[in-house]
This record gives sequence, C-alpha cells and structure tokens, in this order.
Amino acid sequence: MLEIAIIGGGLCGLALANSLLAEKLPCAVFEARDRLGGRILTKIARNNGLALDMGATWYWPNSQPRITKLIDDLGLPHFAQHETGTLLSLKEADSPPQQIVLEDLHGGARRIEGGASSLIQALAARLPADMLHLEHPLSRLIDRGSHIELHFQHGQDAVVVNARQVVLALPPRLVEEVLAFEPPLNGQLRETLRETPTWMAGNAKLLASFGGPDGKAANGDTPAAFWRTAGHSGNASASHPRAVLSEVHDACDALGARAGLSAFFALAAPGRTAFRVGLPLLARSQLNQLFGAGAQDAELHIQDWAEEAQTCASLDRAGEAAHPEYAHPQLRIPYWNGRLHLGGSETAAYSGGYMEGALEAAGRLRRELLITRASQANATANPTANPACAS
Ligand SMILES: Cc1cc2nc3c(=O)[nH]c(=O)nc-3n(C[C@H](O)[C@H](O)[C@H](O)COP(=O)(O)OP(=O)(O)OC[C@H]3O[C@@H](n4cnc5c(N)ncnc54)[C@H](O)[C@@H]3O)c2cc1C
Repeated sequence: MLEIAIIGGGLCGLALANSLLAEKLPCAVFEARDRLGGRILTKIARNNGLALDMGATWYWPNSQPRITKLIDDLGLPHFAQHETGTLLSLKEADSPPQQIVLEDLHGGARRIEGGASSLIQALAARLPADMLHLEHPLSRLIDRGSHIELHFQHGQDAVVVNARQVVLALPPRLVEEVLAFEPPLNGQLRETLRETPTWMAGNAKLLASFGGPDGKAANGDTPAAFWRTAGHSGNASASHPRAVLSEVHDACDALGARAGLSAFFALAAPGRTAFRVGLPLLARSQLNQLFGAGAQDAELHIQDWAEEAQTCASLDRAGEAAHPEYAHPQLRIPYWNGRLHLGGSETAAYSGGYMEGALEAAGRLRRELLITRASQANATANPTANPACAS
C-alpha cells in the first residue's frame, strides 16, 4: 500500500514530492505525459541552441517569494528580462508600428538561464527515479474507506494502485472533466472545479530563433538579435482586429548571443485550429511587419496549449480575458475523510495560476497531509476522535 500518491508531475506535484521526501513521508508521482513539467516546457532551437520557453517563462522576485527562494536554493542562474530599446505598437493592420519608450514593461520579471525546465529537472533530480511514474494517466478513483483505489492506463496495461492519501496536483477543470469518482464528488464542488479556469491553457506561444550559436545571422556578419542593434527592445504589441500575434517579447539568452523572440497568439483556439496550416506564414508576416526583413530567417516553433488534453479542459478553449480570481475555499480542504486532496496552482491563495501559486499550493498540501495523517493516527488510537475534513 502506497502512503501518498501525487497525481501530476508539474511544478506543484514535484515541489510537494520534494518536501514530503524531506519529511521522510513515502510518496510516488504519477504523470500522464511522457515528460515532467506540465505547463513548464523548454525546447531547444535547432539553428542556434537557444532554450525556448514554450510555457511559463517569468517570475517576479519583488512579489513572488516562494519561486524566488526555490530558484536560489537550487542554485539556478537567472537574468532580467531584456527591455532596453523601444517598444513597437501596431494599432492598424496596414500601417508601420509606432515606436514607444516605456520603462519597466515587465515589472522586474526574471528568467531562468537554460529555460524554466531547468527548475523541473533540478526538482526531479532530487527524487529517487522509482518515485516517478511517467505515462500513467489517472482515470478513476474509488474510495475504499481505509484507502483510495487508483486506476491508471500505462500503455496497453490497466494499472491499479492503492494509496492511503491522494493528491490531485492537476488543473481543477481536468479533475472534473476527466476523472471518475466513486462515490461521485458533491455537486457544489464539481461546479467550483468547472468554474476554475486553467491559467493560460487556452493560449498558444510562438518562439522564433535566429542565426547560429555564435550570435551571428545566417549571412555571418550581422548580429542575430538584429532588432537590438536597430534600437528595439524586441517587445511589441498589436491591438488591431487582424493581428495574429498580440504580444512579442525578446527571448534571447542571458548574454544576448543566442537570439530569439517569443510571442502570444492573438487568435483564440478555434481560430488557430481553422488556420493551423497557415499559422507559421501569418506569424512570420507579422514579425516582418514589426521588425523588418531580418525576421524572415527565423526558425519557428509553435506550442498550442489548447491542443494538450493534459492541460486544457474543453471550457478552457474559450480563453480568459483577465487573470481569474483563484483560491476558492472548497478547493483548499480535504475530501473523503482526509484521504483526497486538491492541488495545482489554481487552488493557491496567492499568485494562483502562476509558478508561485503552484508552490503555495504545494506548501498548503504538505501541511494538510501532515495534519490529516496526525489526526488519522489519533483517530486509530482513539476511535471517538473526528478528523477535521469534508466528506
Ligand atoms: C503559455 C503559458 C505561459 C505561462 N507563463 C507563465 C509565466 O511567465 N510565469 C508564471 O509564473 N507562470 C506562467 N504560466 C503558468 C505556469 O506554467 C503554471 O502556473 C504552472 O506551471 C502550474 O503548475 P502545476 O503543477 O500547478 O500544473 P501543471 O503544470 O498543469 O501540471 C499538472 C500535471 O498533471 C498532469 N496530468 C494532467 N492530467 C493527468 C492525469 N489524468 N493523470 C496524471 N497526470 C495528469 C499534466 O500532464 C501535468 O504534468 C504559463 C502557462 C502557460 C501555458
């Protein structure tokens, strides 16, 4: 019998596994994908070797103490988001961009050298390999009273695991949409899970990498980050209705040698699906309009999170106009007599949706698991004791 099963090998699940290991609490992580990290995903550009953050990128030391401390504790080098130069603003489809001088556009944001996945690799490296189970999507949970029966699919095999406590470190909407519960979760909780949007799940990102690893463009004599030498920061916005990309940011490495730009698509998920084949062409054309002909040589990488079933629930495909309110109290209490716990950044009381929120949730889960274990031990010793949790 497993003591604690953590479902989801994103930042929340891995940070929790690390803290439980430190408490010597036996646990295992079950991850649906063939990789860890969830919405944190770094790819490497073929042309210049640049680390491309296809999901989470920035953290803000002035307001996010947990992620800042974790990155420092893990000894991961980091650097400020590049901002020197003008911001380009495209207000009309057929006019050139306006140049704007704006300071502190990113509010003190920093990036992790080598990409945000370095954080995931560092956390995973601290865990024994046999604690991590990739390609184990969970589909069903049965409350057996003394434990929870978990049903996974692993390749062609159906796998059943029994665990005394289970943490669902997943976006709440996926918990409601994908998982079957016996007995079923109560209607109010199901509604709250449904009404909690998965931050950024409906979005898609473009990464464009330029030149070679030596920082030179394809023709060998101009800097690959050509926008910097032209006085631009690499940051741009497009607000007209025909825009394909809404925001562009400089995505070069710390030294500005390996050159890249990142962008968010303006098109919502249904539009991206309809234009899928033409998206690279449309994106390249907007980069050209913003930064000039140098953008033509980009190697393009597109990550559409709305097409990732392990991130985006069907309700998330519509996207969110603003950052939602998180921390619903129903998502921050245990169920099934203290055996079932809800996690993921969207349950956080602070910075919900962000990496900081994933760590806040992991901290709350650690405390919750310790308290329910203590109260269950107490209840075994004294059968009249009543654990403090929702049923
Ligand atoms: C495009 C984009 C840009 C972002 N930018 C930033 C940023 O700049 N800064 C920032 O702080 N945050 C950013 N975020 C948000 C950040 O990525 C998340 O807050 C954080 O990664 C959430 O971690 P998590 O562990 O809570 O959830 P997730 O990363 O979603 O992890 C959940 C895990 O559960 C797994 N899973 C799902 N279903 C199952 C199942 N049935 N069985 C087993 N496993 C399952 C998933 O595969 C995944 O690995 C961004 C997100 C996106 C998509």
